Amino acid sequence: MTSDGMFSDIPVEIGVVYEGERIRKQTMHVELGGPQVKEKFEILRVKSPEEVHDGEVKVLGPDLSEMAVGGAIPFGICVEVAGAQLEADMEAVMERRIHDFCNWIEGFMHLNQRDGIWLRADKKAVARGLTLNHVGMVLIRLFRSALPIIDRISVTLITDPALVHRWHAAAVQTYEERDARTRGMTDEDVDVFYGCSLCQSFAPSHVCVISPERYANCGAISWLDGRAASRVDPKGPIYEIQKGECIDPETGEYEGVNRVVKEKSLADISRVQLYTAFGYPHTSCGCFECTTFYVPECDGLGIVNRDFRGMTPTGLSFGSIADSTGGGRQVDGFHGLSFEYMRSPRFLRASGGWERIIWMPSDVREKLKAYIPADLYDLIATEKDVTSMDEMLAFLRAHRHPIIARTVTNEVSTSDTLGSAPGSHRDIRESRSLPQGPGTGVSITFHNIRLHADRIFVRKGRK
Ligand code: SF4
Repeated sequence: MTSDGMFSDIPVEIGVVYEGERIRKQTMHVELGGPQVKEKFEILRVKSPEEVHDGEVKVLGPDLSEMAVGGAIPFGICVEVAGAQLEADMEAVMERRIHDFCNWIEGFMHLNQRDGIWLRADKKAVARGLTLNHVGMVLIRLFRSALPIIDRISVTLITDPALVHRWHAAAVQTYEERDARTRGMTDEDVDVFYGCSLCQSFAPSHVCVISPERYANCGAISWLDGRAASRVDPKGPIYEIQKGECIDPETGEYEGVNRVVKEKSLADISRVQLYTAFGYPHTSCGCFECTTFYVPECDGLGIVNRDFRGMTPTGLSFGSIADSTGGGRQVDGFHGLSFEYMRSPRFLRASGGWERIIWMPSDVREKLKAYIPADLYDLIATEKDVTSMDEMLAFLRAHRHPIIARTVTNEVSTSDTLGSAPGSHRDIRESRSLPQGPGTGVSITFHNIRLHADRIFVRKGRK
């Protein structure tokens, strides 16, 4: 799809070919939302027909050409739709398509979701006349084309900070209401999970498996949302997964999940265990709201979220850790998560759950306060407590974090028969993603690349 046809009045090209386009700081005209801005959001609401001014695009606040070059501004996107077959249950899944459709615009980049969105407009695109009004027009046409069940649609793009502030609060309230619907449901209550392959354009081997107790990595799609989407479009990117036989209830491994993930990942991934960060963890694309990182010094896990701008005590930023996590791989200890999954009773249960968590940003800890066991809350360090690994280990010892006892137990057992609990040192050594085998150091997986080499030397590793 290009601007030759339905987009001839848009000054840049439109097409799926632009989906992976990245806009670097040097070529960016302006950033909309993103980590430097506190308030940003995108939301789609199903309304009654008389509430939707069909085809209308509103821009509330300055447009792209009126913004200071190189700046970052608060930003909101609100899409309203109506249709005889539309239900509120479908909102979250349709909302997720904003990400795809914005990325089809040449010189316009969209990352993340909900109140974590991060967009950039490229200098060349703005110089060619791209405006937010055009962005709204493109969204309307792509939504209509992809989802014919939409009868009426309007788009509002907000750049006025006071209005973003007001709309943001309402959007956050809606996200919370959506998330709360599946709380209390268990994975045993259902025979069917849902799979999502929407992010395969960025991570070809990634498949999200969405169960009542394991919310999607992006934090935007619940089990109920998956059910609504697969009913409307059974052949679409969100589909039913019959759980099949439960292979291991502790790690959350199911025969039906393995079969579908293998098929959808083109055999790249053949086993997935839903409640662990080690062994055969759920894959991570790049849209996760947070990620864990493994801390070998104490066999613990830290958690860092996308909006955290500082350094973790390991000296790595969110970006560096996310590079180790994403891409549709299974990397021990580096595991993409949503906030809602951290509210689940199954949260990393097979890896030790909350007892394994040693560090997280203070605002994340505060946000999850009601879900972290009360006796562990103060034992999890934040950036306000420690800034280095030495301080981290001293904090854990001083606060008698359970990871200390666990580390001692594992050290004793590894000198004897090797502990076999999931996620123990033994798992780490036997894993396929961390250093393994004599002298190998690391394992490297290549996807979709071509290599040319005049000569290759393979040397036997030294002991
Ligand atoms: S993170 Fe998962 S659920 Fe969310 S859009 Fe991507 S594949 Fe789908």
